Amino acid sequence: MYFFKWAHTNKMNKKNSLFIIFCLFFVFLVSAQKKNTHVFITAGQSNTDGRVSNKLLPEYIKKLAIDTVYFKDGAYKYCKISQNRNDGHFIPYFPKGRISEGFWTYDAVTYYLLEQVLQENFYVVKYVVGGTSIQYPNDTAKGRYWSANTEWLEKTVSFEKKGKSLLLSFTDAIDAAIDSTLSKLEGGYQIDAFLWHQGESDDRYAGKYYDNLKAVIAYVRNHLTEKTGKDYSKLPFVFGSIPESNRHYKPEIDAAMKRIANEDPNAYLIDMSAQELQKDRTHFNEKSAEYLGKKVYKTLDKILILNGSGFRVARYKDDKACAISFTFDDGLAEHYSLVAPAMEKLGFRGTFWVNGRTIADTTYQRGFARMTWSQMKKMADKGHEISSHGWAHRNVTKLSPEELHHELEHNDTVIFQNTGVFPRTFCYPGNAKNNETIAFAEKNRIGTRTLQFSVGGKSTRENLDRRLADLLGNKGWGVTMTHGITYGYDHFSDAGIFWEYLKKVKTLEDRIWVGTFREVAAYVKEQKAVTCDVAKTDKGFSVVPRLALDKNLFTEPLTAVIGRKGIKKVAVRQGKKKLKVRILQDKALFDFDPFGGKIDVEVINK
Ligand SMILES: [Zn+2]
Repeated sequence: MYFFKWAHTNKMNKKNSLFIIFCLFFVFLVSAQKKNTHVFITAGQSNTDGRVSNKLLPEYIKKLAIDTVYFKDGAYKYCKISQNRNDGHFIPYFPKGRISEGFWTYDAVTYYLLEQVLQENFYVVKYVVGGTSIQYPNDTAKGRYWSANTEWLEKTVSFEKKGKSLLLSFTDAIDAAIDSTLSKLEGGYQIDAFLWHQGESDDRYAGKYYDNLKAVIAYVRNHLTEKTGKDYSKLPFVFGSIPESNRHYKPEIDAAMKRIANEDPNAYLIDMSAQELQKDRTHFNEKSAEYLGKKVYKTLDKILILNGSGFRVARYKDDKACAISFTFDDGLAEHYSLVAPAMEKLGFRGTFWVNGRTIADTTYQRGFARMTWSQMKKMADKGHEISSHGWAHRNVTKLSPEELHHELEHNDTVIFQNTGVFPRTFCYPGNAKNNETIAFAEKNRIGTRTLQFSVGGKSTRENLDRRLADLLGNKGWGVTMTHGITYGYDHFSDAGIFWEYLKKVKTLEDRIWVGTFREVAAYVKEQKAVTCDVAKTDKGFSVVPRLALDKNLFTEPLTAVIGRKGIKKVAVRQGKKKLKVRILQDKALFDFDPFGGKIDVEVINK
């Protein structure tokens, strides 16, 4: 409208003014399309460096080779790489091992697939050294470590500067790439993901791997945020686990990786446990390398929505910004008399962690009245989750394997016998846990409570409001921990704080999904693990979801989103079933069964 006015006051004829509008619109279109260049950062040890001969490259990559005998030389069309160098210089990518040329690994496949969909230049900063651990000190022959221990990092420098830190080598390489190349790109750049495969050389320090790897991820995210001034605290971290047949395989490292993937909303773990290795029982072969490469690509496709259809799987049910699970410990009587009715009034359902022994025997109740089984049966029938807090509220880190087994299995059985619903989650008594007990408790379960925030005696209206704002900002899953309301451990001095909090969450329901622990844990794990093959069809597109989780355990439907401006009508079928579609502003939503097979989407955009 503004341009019409301007044209008329300048006494231009209509033809001219329309022409100007057309030109301005064109400029607008071109400038709107000049978006950030994609950048990926990749690091790790030998399985990230590559130990598969280039003679075994997939045929589609061999086609890019100049050397058609050994396939050591060639060039990808769009992928530029700066590998193990600190001058920020990029060259066209072709898989090369760090020490000897002519070796490849999973990322060769990932970059190839990214090229197919991006069809424009993108950049990779890669830093790899075989046989290297995060743990320092660790007497490996290499003498260089990924450790993010801040005290140690202050005393050392990167390997290139004659120090021992690989992490500083990696961040120096990224900094140099930013300074000399990326910051000069027209339209800017965006670091899209951090790809990582490592852990074999930490086998003797498996117990420290959870803290060690977590610190590396945090270090890189912080570094990028400080270096660029952009918020990289949610930088996606995509990593693969170690096959069980690996001679360096340690269940504790596997458990640490799973725990990080469960706790960090932006960490995506690809399960490599059943994948094949070469005869050395350490390195991926051509099959497992290609498998991981494809899975990493699929994960990036999901995170970055690279397919042109606008299709994505919502991070939370109904595409809400974040999630809350209200959870209540120790089975107090007022969880039935006060909490459940208040939540039902708001349309919410809660999770109640109970100890079978305490429910059944007043000698363990410490004078605090507890719920009865018949009350809990009524709650379960209404959709509340009655789940396990251990049979006798014992510190699970101090139990023998037999005792631990009894503490968990017996309580499950008793809850099932009394409520008719088998518990599929667990809450650690006293929040006491370690990597082994977590790995044990997670077996055959949807999830266990490892992260929570206390809503109780110390809560104020202000700090609960701040928590809600944080949750909406960081798009996380908040799990509350409440014991007593008007009596019992950590009860409120003013229970009104709690009732108002519930109502406040209700007013934010268009942005917050309130689900039981079981529901949200299942959704989040499914959403992270699902990959979707999206293909164009005559009338729209089709989606084939693939999910390698136990379908008897993971039964939450996932929400699909088709993000398109002005979307009006969409018809969706999964198999023979017609799915209900909700049209909102600029997007259509529908729920699907991730195990239900192919979905056909017809977009009727009139
Ligand atoms: Zn407890």
